[in-house]
Amino acid sequence: MKLCRYDDDRLGVVREQTLYDVTAALDVLPQVRYPLPRVDPLIAHLAQVREAIERLLPTAKARPLAGARLLSPVANPGKIVAAPVNYARHLDEARAQADIHHHQQVKEIRQIGLFLKATSSVVGPHEGVALQHLDRRNDHEAELAVVIGKAGRNITRAQALSHVAGYAVGLDMTARGPEERSLRKSVDSFTVLGPWLVTADEIADPSNIDFWLTVNGEPRQSANTRDMVLDIGTLIEFASSFYTLHPGDVLLTGTPEGVGPVLPGDRIDCAFDGVGQISVQVRAAQPQPECVA
Ligand code: MN
Repeated sequence: MKLCRYDDDRLGVVREQTLYDVTAALDVLPQVRYPLPRVDPLIAHLAQVREAIERLLPTAKARPLAGARLLSPVANPGKIVAAPVNYARHLDEARAQADIHHHQQVKEIRQIGLFLKATSSVVGPHEGVALQHLDRRNDHEAELAVVIGKAGRNITRAQALSHVAGYAVGLDMTARGPEERSLRKSVDSFTVLGPWLVTADEIADPSNIDFWLTVNGEPRQSANTRDMVLDIGTLIEFASSFYTLHPGDVLLTGTPEGVGPVLPGDRIDCAFDGVGQISVQVRAAQPQPECVA
């Protein structure tokens, strides 16, 4: 099932080029009150939501998918776990290019471990990417996003995929510079997730997915998830040996070679076979007053 969040937080099911409005399925979610649970409520109750969707679908209002304003399929991820240099040829290019590594030694993922991105960086494809530091190189990184569905710690590699709710296309946008990854990759809008969550039952083998990314139609990245240094199961084992993974946590699995800069006005297109395709507009962030919201 392909589940999207769109327009004013509506819930949709996508079939071919048609979007079915199943927002009423959200009524099965428990009313939460302070303190909030450490989960994304939709992902934590996905089985019940899917049952409700099956009941609603025969009479659900249909509309063309084109024109829907697609938001992140995970509205409230508890954490964004990300894998640095998890494709061998990206490690090579990072070591070769000074404006990627900034004269820091680029180590292998086993030595660096994983890093976290701020959840406030998450947007959907419709919202686009807003570049905050135009004096820097800001790069695209195409990554398979894995959404955790079942809580666990010390999850074994063999059990790992049973903890996965589904997958999405992910962009791990990056401002290059000397600071820690976590800071440079947590700019507002620097985690793009979409176009929807494709549930795990639809992906026969997440370790064999072709994917590509273009900027203004020009090919930049093209690879297969089998090229990961640490595969999805190993990443989940590694992550959960440090912290509990909760439903709605998102794992960005790393990017292959071909990362490169984007500028305001550019359009990023990115697709993972069997998952989906996103089209994302890049703009300059508007200057904000000191305090907003
Ligand atoms: Mn990355």
